This record gives sequence, structure tokens and C-alpha cells, in this order.
Amino acid sequence: MGRETVFLSWDAARCRHCFGCIAICPQNALGVDEAGNLSYEIRRCIRCFRCAGACLHGALRVVREET
Ligand code: SF4
Ligand code: SF4
Repeated sequence: MGRETVFLSWDAARCRHCFGCIAICPQNALGVDEAGNLSYEIRRCIRCFRCAGACLHGALRVVREET
């Protein structure tokens, strides 16, 4: 049986830079980089996926993969 890997995927083309996901993250894992894009610090992320639920534009998705 394979192991399931769950991770966050960000689609730059869909992102409207509203930064609602940053406000809702309890871990401060999301931020804004110098270019004004969403930044993500994987070591802080506890995979609660509140950010994906808060994104109204479908830019943040939870991806599950069998490895
Ligand atoms: S909530 Fe969605 S659209 Fe808004 S900044 Fe985050 S990823 Fe982009
Ligand atoms: S999954 Fe949770 S901890 Fe990780 S970036 Fe999203 S809101 Fe923050």
C-alpha cells in the first residue's frame, strides 16, 4: 500500500492577491514576497488547509497523491 502525501498547491494565474489566506493562517506560514506574490514557508505549515478553504478564487488547493 502506498503512502498518501498531502500538500498545498498555489495557482498564480488564479490568485487575485486579496491575501485573505495570509490573514487566516494560524502559523504565519503565508506571506508576501518582494515581487508581491504569495510566499509559503513549508516548515511552519501544519496542513490545516484553512487557507485553501478561505480562498474564494480557487488559487489554493489541497492535493493528495499516492506515493
Ligand atoms: S486567498 Fe486566494 S486569491 Fe487571495 S491571495 Fe490567497 S491564494 Fe490569492
Ligand atoms: S495549511 Fe494551514 S498552516 Fe498551512 S499555510 Fe494553510 S492555513 Fe497556514
